[in-house]
Amino acid sequence: MNLKIHKGDTVEVISGRLDDKGKRGEVIRVLPKDQRVVVQGVNLRTKHQRQVQSQGRTISPGKVRFEAPLDISNVMLVCPKCSKATRVGLSRSEDGKSVRVCKHCEAVIDE
Ligand SMILES: [Zn+2]
Repeated sequence: MNLKIHKGDTVEVISGRLDDKGKRGEVIRVLPKDQRVVVQGVNLRTKHQRQVQSQGRTISPGKVRFEAPLDISNVMLVCPKCSKATRVGLSRSEDGKSVRVCKHCEAVIDE
């Protein structure tokens, strides 16, 4: 399975929760098995942390904000060249590697 979204890419949220729609962020994790991605600052959830003792240190209780994974079909890659949210095509580079290509400006996204 060749996912077209990679860690470190900038993506735009195109559907899903209303308050996240149109947001852009960096992909911080890809979960290929689940077809999900974790995007910085998107799909924020709050988790309540209990007080825990860990190796003599106390981690204080409180709310922890974290990014929940969202479906890969809800995001689109933002082209680093034309900065539009775009569909991605695949092409072969000169040395035979598979590279991603922006369908807007036809720039090769992977250097
Ligand atoms: Zn482009």
